[in-house]
Amino acid sequence: MYKAKAYAAESASSPLELTTIPRRDLTETDVQIEVLFCGICHSDLHMVRDEWGGTVYPIVPGHEIVGRVSKTGPAVTKFRTGDIVGVGCMVDSDGTCAQCNAGYENNCDNRVLTYNSPDRHSGGVTYGGYSDSVVVDERFVLRIPPNLDLAGTAPLLCAGITTYSPMRHWGVSEGKKVGVVGLGGLGHMGVKFARAFGAHVVVFTTSPHKKDHALKLGSHEVVVSSSADEMQKHANSFDFILDTVSAPHNVDAYLELLGPNGTMVLVGAPPEPLSVSAFSLIPGRRSLAGSNIGGIPETQEMLDFCGKHNITSDVEVIPVQDVNRAYERLLKSDVKYRFSIDMASLKQQEATASARVEAGAAR
Ligand code: NAP
Ligand code: ZN
Repeated sequence: MYKAKAYAAESASSPLELTTIPRRDLTETDVQIEVLFCGICHSDLHMVRDEWGGTVYPIVPGHEIVGRVSKTGPAVTKFRTGDIVGVGCMVDSDGTCAQCNAGYENNCDNRVLTYNSPDRHSGGVTYGGYSDSVVVDERFVLRIPPNLDLAGTAPLLCAGITTYSPMRHWGVSEGKKVGVVGLGGLGHMGVKFARAFGAHVVVFTTSPHKKDHALKLGSHEVVVSSSADEMQKHANSFDFILDTVSAPHNVDAYLELLGPNGTMVLVGAPPEPLSVSAFSLIPGRRSLAGSNIGGIPETQEMLDFCGKHNITSDVEVIPVQDVNRAYERLLKSDVKYRFSIDMASLKQQEATASARVEAGAAR
């Protein structure tokens, strides 16, 4: 075991604060990664505030990790010291079930999430990427294309794969009409992917001021969802709608916009149940579905796709000391469009703290 610096919350109402956490010594197949950037996902906020239930404290969130390999176990074959790598929402799975064998570790009953999951090594829970380092089995470490900006790449590890995977699964492509509901971290990646796949893209937003930016991000049309007229113009017309909204909202209003055999996929995860009218689904044989991140092979495919098409997240880079303020802004949908924490700030905080200790000792 060694000690790592991290930002943790002690309870659902506590701010995130600097602490130290234990990290395991490397096993044969482990990779130690110096965290360079970590995105702030709305799931981090749901979990820190125990909005979904089951949060274990202290919690160290963070599952959009980009970093540099600082050490490798003797049996590691895929990575070397110095490589730039990524880690997303999972750090382990049983590796033997049908889902794992098919590359869908995200659907494995025994998958281990990057934070707040039972940790078979420590006996406690896993700690995420708001930290100076992580230790992860090489099976769950991703290669980062060399041309991508690292701060903007971190969010690809969750927001990227969570929007890429359902669009691939449901065949978003040229000639399809695609809606993206909510222009936040996930939503803006959904726009970029839908556009890159050649679809006609319509953004639905509750924030009129996001209109221009939605167009700049690649959407063809933007609808302010409070306008019944604007919504009505799109009735019965979509092949696919991706719903990324993090709070309770009217799902029927979007289901009614699906054309025959159209599918709406929930990736947003409001804590409260959503109500659905049977009459939003029955006409036109519409479908309502869900989707959960993606498997490791597909996450690598997504990163390689982003490398080829030069796709990254639009980020506001912040020091880790601003994380609590960032959560408040996230709650107000006030971020363009993802916060990415520059972990060099954590080192500076260490330096300031030790400088203070030294100054104190000299006195
Ligand atoms: P985010 O950046 O906060 O974006 C959510 C967007 O939803 C906001 O920007 C806002 O867009 C819209 N919104 C917020 N409150 C709303 C309300 N009361 N009514 C209508 N629209 C509202 O969050 P995110 O990081 O993209 O995450 C979105 C959700 O996906 C979260 O619930 C998160 O936990 C979940 N998630 C799921 C997966 C998965 O695997 N399924 C993975 C990651 C995250 P406008 O301002 O444009 O309206
Ligand atoms: Zn996430």
